[in-house]
Amino acid sequence: MKFASAAGSAVRVRLAPSPTGTLHIGTARTAMFNWLFARRQGGQFLLRIEDTDSARSKPEYTANILEGLQWLGLDWDGEPVIQSERIGEHRAAIQQLLDSGHAYRCFASEAELTAMREQQAAHKQAPRYDNRHRDLSAEQQQAYIAEGRQATIRFRIADAASITWSDLVRGEMAWKGSDLGGDMVIARRAPADQIGDPLYNLVVVVDDISMAISHVIRGEDHIANTAKQLLLYQALAAEPPVFAHTPLILNQEGKKLSKRDGVTSVSEFRAMGYTAEALANYMTLLGWSPPEGMGERFSLAEAAAVFDFERVNRAGARFDWEKLNWLNGQVLHGLGPESLRQQLLPLWAEHGWGTEPGSAWADPAWQIDLCSLIGPSLTLLADGVEQARPFFTTPELEQAAETQLANDGARAALEALLESLLKLLPEAPLEADQAQALLLEAAMAAGVKKGVIMKTLRAALLGSLQGPDLLTTWLLLHRSGADRVRISRCL
Ligand code: GLU
Repeated sequence: MKFASAAGSAVRVRLAPSPTGTLHIGTARTAMFNWLFARRQGGQFLLRIEDTDSARSKPEYTANILEGLQWLGLDWDGEPVIQSERIGEHRAAIQQLLDSGHAYRCFASEAELTAMREQQAAHKQAPRYDNRHRDLSAEQQQAYIAEGRQATIRFRIADAASITWSDLVRGEMAWKGSDLGGDMVIARRAPADQIGDPLYNLVVVVDDISMAISHVIRGEDHIANTAKQLLLYQALAAEPPVFAHTPLILNQEGKKLSKRDGVTSVSEFRAMGYTAEALANYMTLLGWSPPEGMGERFSLAEAAAVFDFERVNRAGARFDWEKLNWLNGQVLHGLGPESLRQQLLPLWAEHGWGTEPGSAWADPAWQIDLCSLIGPSLTLLADGVEQARPFFTTPELEQAAETQLANDGARAALEALLESLLKLLPEAPLEADQAQALLLEAAMAAGVKKGVIMKTLRAALLGSLQGPDLLTTWLLLHRSGADRVRISRCL
């Protein structure tokens, strides 16, 4: 269903990451839903870097976040807005709230507030600010200032306030002012003639108003913030956006996915060998059900063509490694050998493989044939390194291979095979039927079954009794001359 924003104007959504860490999978999934919605509605997907926590924000995290979004294919519109550059506007809004009586200075010291919370805990009450400085007289204020006390700025939250909104995911929502913990701090402690650092709920509202955001799509851990923010919209006489709170990503135990679960940042998934396409595809499935008949494997553009919030689930989305691996395998298998080669070349190059000028290993045709051979069995791109390893470097002999090679008949067959191989011109390509004939000949010469020579050849070439199709493996190794070298070393 297409719908217009609250104000009836174009759809404008935003992702508002804090650059205090690398791009988390949860943030990336929020980005995904924002992007899908914007693209479906023909709207704008904006970025705002929430870097007001100067102690924890780092430029390298901003770079990591932008790079991760780009890699996933989540292109944003316009230049990212930098929150810290807008502090003047945040302070002006706080001043406006002070002037209109919606906000006031609270002189309660840290020690007094701690004592208040301890009292509440002792009485088994939920922690909340008891609004003690809400209606100080001018004299009381002067007395605190004379004492040299600093003040936070708090926004009044009437206990009786009733806050409702129609959430695109969760339906009708209702909160009471009394559930919000008392009057909320919107600016940190500072001398009473100043406005201290503005805080999250206030700055988000000011920025969302200023950026004309029509829909706020974010994780359900922000629901209580939404209730508070709606009161701020009212106090600032601004039309609120439409809200959509998306389900959290859960680990196997059903708890919110966190650093303790190991891999959580997009760059880590990338380093493990997941493709952007599979990860993006998987993230859309974390909390959204595609329409009937669409299956689970699709591109971002295909998802954007049908995305809506009616198919976003309310329940948390459990992270399912098996499904992600399956999708990644599907993407890799569908790539085709040349595209797979393009993706693997930089990973191979890290090992110094595939770059030796003039060698078979650097020959694109050889590399494409290698990709055709290993491609169908890859789950992660990184598997394309492990599976290519015995084609670029000589593997050690495993115990089972040694045992096979120690067998007398097997050894004789391998000797016969090497003899015929050495008679071939080194640069002449070996064809499949010719190779088959050589195997038969060698088996006959040594008086063993063809199966024995095949098993032995595999042991000699790969150092293992396992591996991909033997004939193709051999033909590839023959092109780089490795077959003769590897057989010789076993005799
Ligand atoms: N910087 C906030 C966060 O990363 C933004 C939340 C919001 O979308 O309002 O959680």
